[in-house]
Amino acid sequence: MKIINSITGVKRTRQEFSSGQKKVGLVPTMGALHEGHLSLVKQAKRENDIVSVSIFVNPIQFNDKNDLRNYPRELDKDLLMLAGILEENDFVFCPDQDEMYPEPVNKTFDFGNLDSVMEGFFRPGHFNGVGIVVEKLFRIIEPDRAYFGIKDFQQLAVIRKMAEIENFDIDIIGCPIIREENGLAMSSRNKLLNPDLRKKAGIIFESISKARDIGKRKTVSETVEEIKKSIQARPGFVVEYIEIRDSRSLEAIRDWDDSDSIRCFAAVIAGSVRLIDNVEISL
Ligand code: AMP
Repeated sequence: MKIINSITGVKRTRQEFSSGQKKVGLVPTMGALHEGHLSLVKQAKRENDIVSVSIFVNPIQFNDKNDLRNYPRELDKDLLMLAGILEENDFVFCPDQDEMYPEPVNKTFDFGNLDSVMEGFFRPGHFNGVGIVVEKLFRIIEPDRAYFGIKDFQQLAVIRKMAEIENFDIDIIGCPIIREENGLAMSSRNKLLNPDLRKKAGIIFESISKARDIGKRKTVSETVEEIKKSIQARPGFVVEYIEIRDSRSLEAIRDWDDSDSIRCFAAVIAGSVRLIDNVEISL
């Protein structure tokens, strides 16, 4: 695999491919790779001739400076992991901040309600920063397909919207959530949890997975309260939100009959680490 740090380097490599009608799949990441990321890379490998993985900790999507400072960075290890999957023609794009942002970007997307609720509400500016960096990556790499995890379900919705706004002819592909043995959704942030909290953090998935069963006997708001209670019963866990929303519009569900495609979303602070997860509920 090639390791490319510059935009001109990508453009040069990209030109070699465009002559051969080869399909390019992009997997954008912020590094500190785990099996969740690798599942996206493997899927991209199966479905494309050439795979590009980007590794860039995007400062403008962090609304919290401490979160940015503490975000794990393990480029050498990441490259070793990718070398086990990627082949000669594939490439990793790992630019530095000056390469991606030689000047500040002042663009504001209108994502409607998609970025005003849940993550958008609790992390102001986050999705605008995600939109900006993914648009840049799309323009630099010019993929045919781009792969994102359903783990960040709202992000996937925002990126689909950005691609529509910017008229990208790119297939945006949502990939299943890969979990640790206890059910905790894999995340680069899990490395920041102490071993005890990491073990106990399985409670998040366990609790939101019960939404379907609880919903058979309780209202939507009672279900939310019951899930919150079961997570917060574990010392060290504070629920930021539990929300039950329509999977397509991300509008809140008040009654179980309001939609035929419902998801339960969670954001939980474990110690000082913020974790998110979601599951589909079909009653
Ligand atoms: P990140 O490095 O956190 O920006 O994640 C890069 C991509 O990997 C995003 O599309 C995430 O949704 C996806 N991803 C992260 N964790 C998981 C997981 N546990 N399962 C599947 N995809 C994931």
